[in-house]
Amino acid sequence: MSDADDPDATRTTYAPALDDRFPVPLRGVAVDPRTRCAHWHAAVDVIALRFGCCETYYPCASCHDAAADHDAEPWPRDRFDEPVVFCGRCRGRLSAREYLDCDDACPRCGAAFNPGCRAHRDRYFEP
Ligand SMILES: [Zn+2]
Ligand SMILES: [Zn+2]
Ligand SMILES: [Zn+2]
Repeated sequence: MSDADDPDATRTTYAPALDDRFPVPLRGVAVDPRTRCAHWHAAVDVIALRFGCCETYYPCASCHDAAADHDAEPWPRDRFDEPVVFCGRCRGRLSAREYLDCDDACPRCGAAFNPGCRAHRDRYFEP
């Protein structure tokens, strides 16, 4: 079985490479097919977020710190209607507005999102 088919396979990708298992530009540390990573790997940690600095998706800010070659910048407020959250369960994309307004669940597939992410939103979205 190739690791593209293995539901438990994890992959670490460093800039400038991208993880080709995903339909969006994405990289991180020990990323599984649902975008859980080395830092956040509970059942609810199924999203990846796009950063303003490089417009690339990472499962979390620690992944950006480890795998990118520059400092992280949050997504700019004047672009909150663009897709910036990738759901690792349905592989749909949410705009910043949809994500920030949702009730800690994917509006497309109902996957529960980690409500703890609210505590560090300013690392991902310009306040
Ligand atoms: Zn970046
Ligand atoms: Zn991570
Ligand atoms: Zn979803």
